[in-house]
Amino acid sequence: MHYFSYQKKELYCEEVPLSFLAKKFGTPLYVYSKKTILEHFYKIKKAFSEIHPLICYSLKANSNLSILKLLVKEGGGLDIVSGGELFRARVINCPPKKIVYASVGKKEEEIKEAIDYRILLFNVESERELIRINLIAQEKKKKVDVALRINPDIKTFTHKYITTAEKETKFGIDIKTAKKIFSLRSNFPYINISGLHIHIGSQITKSTPFIKAIKKTLPLIEEAKKAKINLRYFNIGGGLGIVYNRERPQTAEEFAKKVLPLLKETGLKIILEPGRFIVGNAGVLLTQVLYIKDTPFKRFIIVDAAMNDLIRPALYGGYHKIVPVRKLQIANYRLQIKKKADVVGSICETSDFLGKDRKLNVEEKDYLAILGCGAYGFSMSSNYNSRPRAGEVLVDKDKVFLIRERETYNDLIRKEKINEVL
Ligand code: PLP
Repeated sequence: MHYFSYQKKELYCEEVPLSFLAKKFGTPLYVYSKKTILEHFYKIKKAFSEIHPLICYSLKANSNLSILKLLVKEGGGLDIVSGGELFRARVINCPPKKIVYASVGKKEEEIKEAIDYRILLFNVESERELIRINLIAQEKKKKVDVALRINPDIKTFTHKYITTAEKETKFGIDIKTAKKIFSLRSNFPYINISGLHIHIGSQITKSTPFIKAIKKTLPLIEEAKKAKINLRYFNIGGGLGIVYNRERPQTAEEFAKKVLPLLKETGLKIILEPGRFIVGNAGVLLTQVLYIKDTPFKRFIIVDAAMNDLIRPALYGGYHKIVPVRKLQIANYRLQIKKKADVVGSICETSDFLGKDRKLNVEEKDYLAILGCGAYGFSMSSNYNSRPRAGEVLVDKDKVFLIRERETYNDLIRKEKINEVL
């Protein structure tokens, strides 16, 4: 579900034609629909309304300040994974008691900053991290609340790079070690073990892995009780899949129906960390066709966006629908569409493609929209090949807000120094 649709052969975001945005702001350009973002947020909120969970939007999916502000204004919290993400959360005044902090490698400085900001919970991913947080808390003479991130060792049936709950992955604490930590809790006098956390992976389209993970984790709640540990939170992470191509992911409602009985049983405050589900289909990447290159073997549509703007195809083989911003006349359409083409950028890597074997009727200078780019699009972008990063625009009905300016060449070298000795 999203608010990108054709009106008389012209693709719109809400009430604004995308060709207008491409001309006004240039390409490549990320365009987000406010209504789509909010509707997804409310789909989750409504589905789980019975238990009033804290919905901590996982800001790694899309960390633009305007989007964070939008969601926090609606009552959302934030799931962070670095000092930089904490900084973003602070800039938009996210209430500290709505922030949870995961990451297998929190640096001392980052831990200190998060303690000083009095975040709700650290999601602790190892015994060593627990020891480190305890020491820092002791120096600060503050008690710190943590949730243990459990690695329940289950299969998620998603891309292997985004599965995070198998025992071979670096994430979380195995169940046996968690029990050991419970029994050693007096070693951590500056820590309250206040919750359990799981996050099993991303783009998971079925509820079965979530149910398995929850069921494997639930006995730990009893174990904690036995060890006189007062758990208050159960965080079931993010990971809900969306439609990129022909997937048929569970809806928020279907997901809630399946997991709510288990969650209610816990009697704990439930935390959710959706990222992709909220913003994934709320964004497109606009790009312009530079050249159509026909070789004896293949047709390439060379565009001005590239893997530095959207790395999902290169990194995970991620699929994104690519559609023309303006549909051409049928006569032309028949002529050209027969040939399948790879849509590629200009970066010097063969992995620099945005789509393979697509039937697209386009000409040079036409605009294309790459769909489903709201999550892990701009936030994973880079300056590779010294390409300034794209601008970002948020559309609210017929209004347009530039929420990140396109980078300039000067931005590329801003932090660099030319040493006189060289
Ligand atoms: N929570 C944690 C700890 C994560 O690592 C991630 C993503 O990597 C998320 C939540 C969000 O996942 P998704 O965008 O699939 O909902």
